[in-house]
Amino acid sequence: MIKIDFALAVSLYVTFFSIGVLFLWVYLNRNKFKIYSSDEVYMWQCDVCTYAYVDSTHKEISACPVCGSYNKRGVKK
Ligand SMILES: [Zn+2]
Repeated sequence: MIKIDFALAVSLYVTFFSIGVLFLWVYLNRNKFKIYSSDEVYMWQCDVCTYAYVDSTHKEISACPVCGSYNKRGVKK
């Protein structure tokens, strides 16, 4: 039998328990970590400078990263 220190045993237990809780938490919240799922990706094209970019955090109005002008959803030419 392998003899280990009590403090080492406790630290190993805490470490593996924390890893287990972390993996369980990630598994239960896995849909929150999906940034680019198929229905949440929004392609934008700026009306002013015609720069195409992806902004998934905004749904109605998004600011262009190049010129800073605001673009409204659904205005397509
Ligand atoms: Zn622009």
